[in-house]
Amino acid sequence: MQCNICGGDTFATLKDRGAVRCNTCMSLERTRMLWMHIERLGVRRGWKVLHLAPERGIYTRLLHMLDPKDYTVADFVPADYPFVRDCVQIDLTAMEDWPSNKFDLIVHSHVIEHIPATLAYPIFHLHRMLKRRGTHLCVIPFLPGAYDECFAQIGPGERVRRFGQDDHVRRLGTDDLQAHLGRILDLPEMPDARALFGEEALRAANIPESNWTGYHIGTVLALRKQDYKLTF
Ligand SMILES: [Zn+2]
Repeated sequence: MQCNICGGDTFATLKDRGAVRCNTCMSLERTRMLWMHIERLGVRRGWKVLHLAPERGIYTRLLHMLDPKDYTVADFVPADYPFVRDCVQIDLTAMEDWPSNKFDLIVHSHVIEHIPATLAYPIFHLHRMLKRRGTHLCVIPFLPGAYDECFAQIGPGERVRRFGQDDHVRRLGTDDLQAHLGRILDLPEMPDARALFGEEALRAANIPESNWTGYHIGTVLALRKQDYKLTF
């Protein structure tokens, strides 16, 4: 088994998940599946890409594939990413000034559950920013149970209990998926990475079987601009 991002072949064990974190680029199983999607799209020089909360391994690869002026790397706290040459600030609760129809690809993982704005707000703006044939690749942690959200000061313990982590503002539950994210986005009934990449490639990239299908904490959604449903 080898990290499909950096080539590393040793992995650190994470509690409950097995040996899934690449010791070389720190990629997780979901990061490696995200990279499989990026490669499948055929990203190449000339593409304009927006990468939020960048993963080190993916950042390093994309930096070599793209013209640096076409690669926008952004986070709410750019200082958290010292390995990025020019990480710009983005506030996903205030996106009106970002340009429309600009990006061929927008990539982020485990971001949406942190954003204290109505769920449809950042999703709307990210799709507005996509070119007509652009793709929005996102990893959202889907958890068992129903949708839950709270922007009030409820404290870290309550956030862990309700949302799974002390800096999350929402839980994207699988029980009522169509009633929250499914109202905004045209979602696949059953995401299936086997159909896209084959079991052999998934296994070779050290992506556990539990991550191959369905909605879970590592589900990668490959969305087209027109998958955003709320239009006049
Ligand atoms: Zn790696």
